[in-house]
Amino acid sequence: MTGQRPEPFVNADSEVYWAATKESRLVLQECADCGHLDLMPRHVCPKCWSANRTWTDAVGTGTVHSFSIVHRAPLPVFREDCPYVVALIDLAEGPRIMTNIVGDGALEVVIGDRVEVCFEDRGEAKVPQFRLARAGGGS
Ligand SMILES: [Zn+2]
Repeated sequence: MTGQRPEPFVNADSEVYWAATKESRLVLQECADCGHLDLMPRHVCPKCWSANRTWTDAVGTGTVHSFSIVHRAPLPVFREDCPYVVALIDLAEGPRIMTNIVGDGALEVVIGDRVEVCFEDRGEAKVPQFRLARAGGGS
């Protein structure tokens, strides 16, 4: 957990998203016209092209859609973390996020596991990641 990990690139479309993660909140964009929920911050709705966008808090839970275990780091700064998990999570609200699964048992993840959001300090920012949310003990 040392080194200079890349920090998020913040632009006009994503500044609300990254401001929320600094408060350990995961937010989704909602279209005020058609109600479509979306995760990648952008200035128009990908479903109806409306620019009438709002933000809403996600509950921070989801299920593992797919994952990969990385054994060879793409950048030297991630080398000490290998092996680590990159995953696609289907959030409770519907949108899918690419993220890491971290914490106890992360390498034993299976598709369909329930997960909950946590946040990694990354310089001035916080990056959403997920932990397994298995109910008490056993495997
Ligand atoms: Zn829309």
